[in-house]
Parts: sequence; C-alpha cells; structure tokens
Amino acid sequence: MQEFEQLEKEIEDLEEFEDLEKLLELPQPDLTGQFHCCLEDFKCVTVLGRGAFGKVLLAESRRTTQRFALKAIQKRGVVDSQDVASLMCERSVLQTVSSVHHPFLVNFYGSFQTEEHLVFIMEYVAGGDLTLDGEAITEPRAVFSAACVVLGVDFLHRHNIAHRDLKLPNLLMDRRGFVKIADFGLCKENMGAGDRTSSFCGTPDFLAPEVLSEESYTRAVDWWALGVLLFEMMVGECPFTGANERDLYESIVNDPVPFPQHLSNEAVSVMTRLMSKNPAWRLGAGERGAQEVMQHAFFRSVDWPGLEAQRVTPPFVPNVREHKDVGDELTSEAPVLSLGSRVLSPEEQDLFQEFDFVADWY
Ligand code: ADP
Repeated sequence: MQEFEQLEKEIEDLEEFEDLEKLLELPQPDLTGQFHCCLEDFKCVTVLGRGAFGKVLLAESRRTTQRFALKAIQKRGVVDSQDVASLMCERSVLQTVSSVHHPFLVNFYGSFQTEEHLVFIMEYVAGGDLTLDGEAITEPRAVFSAACVVLGVDFLHRHNIAHRDLKLPNLLMDRRGFVKIADFGLCKENMGAGDRTSSFCGTPDFLAPEVLSEESYTRAVDWWALGVLLFEMMVGECPFTGANERDLYESIVNDPVPFPQHLSNEAVSVMTRLMSKNPAWRLGAGERGAQEVMQHAFFRSVDWPGLEAQRVTPPFVPNVREHKDVGDELTSEAPVLSLGSRVLSPEEQDLFQEFDFVADWY
C-alpha cells in the first residue's frame, strides 16, 4: 500500500513537472508585461498562397503542433508603397476580430516581426478559397456560402468596419464546409451607418458604381460586392465585363445586370436589390442593416441562429489536401521567408513599433 502511495506521489510530481515545462514553453512576457511570439516558435510546412507584399505559409506550432497560416509581409514593400497606415489598420481589425472568435471571419492569434517581415498568425482554413474557375455552383450552396458572408459582414459593420474587398478569393472554406471571410487588408474603420470615405480601392470587378462615379461612398459597397459574389457563384462569371478597365467601369455604372434565364425568382430579386446602382436603395443599406438581407426570400431556408452556432450541416464538404511535412511534394516553392535587397533604417523600423500582439486565448 505504501509502495502504491509512493508511486502515486511520483506520478503527481511528474505531472506537475510536465505542467511547469509546458508553462515555460508558453510565450513569455517581457519586462513591460507584453507577450511575444517569434518565427522560431513555428515549423513552416508549405506555401498556401501569395499576397500583395509576401506570402501565406502553413506552419505548425513547435509547442502544440497546432497548425496556423502565417501571413508574412515584407516591411520593405509596405514602407516603399507608403502603406504603413493600412497595414496597421489590418492589424487593428484582426485584433477586433480576435476578441470574439467569429465563426465566419478568419481568426487571428497574434502578430510579430523579424528584421524584414511582419507576420500575422492566423487560423488555418484548410478547404481553400472559393474561386470557381468559371464553374457555377448550385443555388442551395450559394445560399449557404452567402449566408456565412452575411453574418461575417454583419459583425464587421456592427463594429463600424467596412471590408471593401469582398470577392471569391477572399472567402475560405473550412474542413466542414463553413465559409470564412479573410484578408482584412482594405478594411476601413470608423465606418458607422452613413459614414463616408473617399479612397479609391478594391478589386475592379467588384467595385460599386458609387466608388467609380461619386466623390465618397459608405459601407453599402460591401452589400454590392455580395451581389456580385452571388452572381459569380450562380452564373460562373462576372455580371459586368469590358475589354479594358474603362469599359468595365462604364458597364458597372450604366448597364443592367444580365441575369440568365435559369436563375430562380428569389435569386434574381436578391441580386437586383443588392446590385442597386443607388446605394441608398440597396438591400442592407437601410436602418436594419444585415437584417434586411437576412429576411429576403432568397435566404428563407437559412436557420440563422443554427448557422451562427454552426449547428447546421453545410451542403458541401471540401476535399482537403493534407500537407504532411517540410518538403511535402505539393510544395512547389520553399516555405521560407524571402529576404529583401535593402535593410530598413532604424527610423523605418520604428514605424512598426506597435505591430506585435498576442491574443489572450492563444
Ligand atoms: P493578400 O491580402 O495580399 O491578397 P491574402 O490574405 O488574400 O493575401 O492571402 C493570399 C492567399 O493565401 C489566399 O487567396 C488563400 O489562398 C491563402 N490564405 C490566406 N489566408 C489563409 C488562411 N488563413 N488559411 C488558409 N489559406 C489562406
């Protein structure tokens, strides 16, 4: 019996020791009490995609083996294109998003920097983006994907954030088939209902007419983009085209939406209301915001509380490629951060002083 008690005590001590070991491996606070992460905390597995100033890597935490998407941006590119303010805005939006774990926004765990790179630690969304390669999807699938986007946009708008770059490549599907909005690089903060901004940005096919023809615009541009998204999903191509950017913009501002015959009445009706040229009449732009969109007949099959709680079954489950390890044969490009040609001056480095962050729940 004594022997058994002794053994139990030894096991307890060992467990305590393991807990202590784990604790020591956690990100440690510095002298100011701030937590930090660094590149050495991760093992990079493969390249997931390319962004404007860098790449997105699939990486595994050396501490927990949990997988993350590391979005690495070259400081040089940000400084040269005078984009520091919008980068810090992306970080700030990610911090807002990280406070809630929203099911339909790609979550954020923290950010850190190296001499040459700024790195966002993001949730890894394994099912790839929704780019369709010209093939349309069924209406029930489009309803489901768009419903996830509506809830994500609703969260952003409630926090006075306009996304301004909703498009299929910025929508990612998780392993179960739920859709998440990614890429907060063009977000604009302080955009309450009726607030206006004037910077010309976004992706040409998705630009709302008021961005092209008026001096300023509101967050209603996101509801226009949802209309374009829905059209692309159900028709397999963009609603507006042109031989060049000028023709495309003219078509967006002047042409009616060319609905094909096969679409249901509800689909035509919701897209007509979302792609209303006049932002004041657009579905979602009224006082009730996203509620207006949610109550449209196109979404009548959606169990909104069930969707938000992810209790419903998605209509489509993606085929997920498992990236096993460094050197995976799927990797055409080495999963490393490429180095720039010129180092940054201390003044330039100072621009990123406020960048590092670790979410409470990481
Ligand atoms: P950029 O803002 O420069 O356009 P993105 O954030 O859109 O860069 O990322 C580029 C690509 O990387 C995406 O199209 C997607 O394929 C992939 N990607 C981005 N974030 C993730 C993620 N969290 N999980 C999985 N893949 C991702």
